[in-house]
Amino acid sequence: MDSATLDRLREQLQEDRTAHLEQLEEHGASPYDDAVKDTGIEVEAGADAGQATEERSELLASLEQARQRVRAVDEALHRMDEGTYGTCVDCGDRIPAERLEIRPLSVRCVRCAETS
Ligand SMILES: [Zn+2]
Repeated sequence: MDSATLDRLREQLQEDRTAHLEQLEEHGASPYDDAVKDTGIEVEAGADAGQATEERSELLASLEQARQRVRAVDEALHRMDEGTYGTCVDCGDRIPAERLEIRPLSVRCVRCAETS
């Protein structure tokens, strides 16, 4: 992969990371800690507790997704620093740049991704 493509993907990943981090921080959550301090959803007296619980679990699910995303992006950025980014973790083949541009978090080549 040429360095211009790598730089562009790195930038894209960093933006992605920032966006998800902001989402987590907004709710007092951290990507490295499963606890959520404050979901921002309060159950008021007389309010529909069932709905608040549902909102809360939806929020927790989306925070969990954001958390996993940040971790995956960290991993990819780390691989870029190490120079192993774009190499399939299973067979060691190069992952085509076209695939990485569509799915920058890919760690496997198409063949391995299909068989795993
Ligand atoms: Zn492979």
